[in-house]
This record gives sequence, C-alpha cells and structure tokens, in this order.
Amino acid sequence: MSAAPINPDWDSVPWWRALTEQVVLLQRCTACQTYRWPPREICNSCFSFAADWVWDLGRGSVVSWVVTERPFAPGPAVPYTTVLVRLDAQEDLMLPGTLRGDPTALRPGAIVVPDFDPHPTDPALTAIDGDPLPATLLSWRLL
Ligand SMILES: [Zn+2]
Repeated sequence: MSAAPINPDWDSVPWWRALTEQVVLLQRCTACQTYRWPPREICNSCFSFAADWVWDLGRGSVVSWVVTERPFAPGPAVPYTTVLVRLDAQEDLMLPGTLRGDPTALRPGAIVVPDFDPHPTDPALTAIDGDPLPATLLSWRLL
C-alpha cells in the first residue's frame, strides 16, 4: 500500500524541514508567546502575524488513541495505532501521530516522546516552488 501524500505549505515548511533532522520545532507567536498548531500565518490568540520557531522536546501525554486494523485509505500497514498527544509545552497543543510500540500499554495521560519516521513520498512530490522537501512524519513512543 502506498503512503498518503503530504501537502506542505509555506507556513509549515520549517516544521517539515525540522522533522527530517529529527527535531520538533513549534511555531510561536512573538507577540503573545502562544504556540500555533498547525502552523499558520496569524495567531488565534492575538491576531498577530509575527512568529518565530522554537525547539521543543516534544514530550507530551496521551489524550486519546485509535487502533486501525483495516485500511480505509493509503497509509501504513495495518494494524497501526494513532495517538493524540497533548504537548507539555502548552495545554491546548495537541498533535496526532503514529505510536511505535505496543498499544496495549497505552493509558490516558501516558507520557510519550517523539520519534521520527521517514516518509516514503518522493521529495519531488512535496516540493515547494521546485525545492524538494523530504518528508518525515512525527510518531510517538511511550517513555
Ligand atoms: Zn499571539
């Protein structure tokens, strides 16, 4: 089964580039210091357009998860587990990702740390203005 396509945009390019280097970068509003997820041009809290990118451990806690046992669309081989993780960096910052490891060990509030999966997409397919962007996906593993 082929992988789902990734469609990066200008706002998310730093995110994707950092993941290829196995780094979690979060976009942060420089006016009010609120993190923005997904990356976007304007802050939801103060409507500022000013932002920078901040390194983060990416550590968080599991909010919810689902184990996919039948493929509904192109993606990873089944079964796989998708978790929703609340980052320690900010209460309302929740990122999805695939879990590496045994899903029977999952519990609400379980601590997870980021892991990184190179995406099999041809970098030319995720290019921004002709600049190839190799893709890596954020996944999680239990601490
Ligand atoms: Zn703001």
